[in-house]
Amino acid sequence: MHEYAVVDELITSLLPRLETIPGEVSAVFVRKGELRILSDRALENAFELLSRGTRLESARLVVESVAAVVGCAACSYEGASTYYGDEGGHFAIPVLACPRCGAAVSVVCGRELYVDRVAIKDDVPPSGGVQ
Ligand SMILES: [Zn+2]
Repeated sequence: MHEYAVVDELITSLLPRLETIPGEVSAVFVRKGELRILSDRALENAFELLSRGTRLESARLVVESVAAVVGCAACSYEGASTYYGDEGGHFAIPVLACPRCGAAVSVVCGRELYVDRVAIKDDVPPSGGVQ
C-alpha cells in the first residue's frame, strides 16, 4: 500500500531530527493536502505498525487536512476547485477545473504532505502553585 511507503519515509526522516530533543513523543502532526490520494485511516494504521520499536512507538499520528487552492490563468480566479471525479472524495485521479470559467487550473496548494509539528510529553511537573 502506498500509505505504508509514505509513512515509512516519514518515520525514517523524522527520527534523526528528534535525537536532540528529549522527552517522549506523544503525537506527530502531519498536514496533508486534499489532493494527496492517501487514506487518513491507512496512514494512521501504517504509523502504528511501522513505529513499533522506535521512539515514536507511543506517539499517535494526527492527520490534518489542507484544502486545495487552485489558480486560473484564464480569469485569474483563485480558490477552491471544481472536481471531476468519483463522488466521495476518493478519486483515483482528480481532474481540476476553474469553477468560474471552466478552464484548466494550476494547483496553488493541496498536494503537500509534511510533518507540521511534534508534541513532546512534558515529564517535568508544573512548578509553583502548590503551597
Ligand atoms: Zn477561470
